[in-house]
Amino acid sequence: MRFDIITIFPDLFTSFLSESLMAKAIEKKVLEVKLHTPRDYTSDRHHTADDRPYGGGPGMVLKPEPMAAAIEAAGRGRIKPWRVYMSPSGTRLTQDKVFELAGKKRLMLICGRYEGLDQRVIDLLVDEEISIGDYVVNGGEVPAMAVMEAVARLQPGFMGKPESADEESHQSGLLEYPHYTRPPVFRDLEVPKILLSGNHKEVAEWRRRAALARTLAQRPEMLARAELPPEAVKALSNIHTYEHQVNERGAGKKAGS
Ligand code: SAM
Repeated sequence: MRFDIITIFPDLFTSFLSESLMAKAIEKKVLEVKLHTPRDYTSDRHHTADDRPYGGGPGMVLKPEPMAAAIEAAGRGRIKPWRVYMSPSGTRLTQDKVFELAGKKRLMLICGRYEGLDQRVIDLLVDEEISIGDYVVNGGEVPAMAVMEAVARLQPGFMGKPESADEESHQSGLLEYPHYTRPPVFRDLEVPKILLSGNHKEVAEWRRRAALARTLAQRPEMLARAELPPEAVKALSNIHTYEHQVNERGAGKKAGS
């Protein structure tokens, strides 16, 4: 899969792309990443990429000409990229959206800065606006990295063990079960005994229940949307009853923990 990133700060991507799984994926040609900067399409000595907003007010706006020229030049080629503007006004990113984007052959991520892009660039050259959440960061680079990483790890060949993704949070509409590693006791807290038993069937059952319990405790609204198999619904009602009894007793201990 190919990513084209439009940014006035391309150096922000240097270590992101040269470390860990991203670097390996680029080396293995699972991913191709090209950085493009609107500053290369400016005509003044200082490579000015921003200007004051019409109508006044604080902050600066990215100038339309260099931004449009960068998007158009970066988009050349046989396969046209899907052009996404990272924007707090966009549709909120979810794992479903990540799946959708992972199916594209080419993805362009356009990073704003200051007050953002001139609206005419959005109107003319953007296919979709995506937000990473209801908060504002300084620029589109960190949001673009979040999208890139989430999309990249769904590409075949990206992860050493592709099954790592299968049980992850949000993949199945649930949060993932808790993880533990050695030592078996850490600051008086023990690893749940079942995980040390070597009984794969019971471990799988424990994890399934723990995932349901965690989702119920931390993101109950996800359960309303999840398509659960009948055995999960049954397990859930047991957890619910158990939690209710525990709460009635005032213990406050969560099932699955
Ligand atoms: N004036 C803008 C507003 O109120 O919507 C915020 C501009 S923000 C300081 C600068 C850039 O950061 C935006 O153009 C966008 O590319 C990026 N950005 C900030 N928050 C974001 C978010 N939650 N999701 C995606 N991109 C974001």
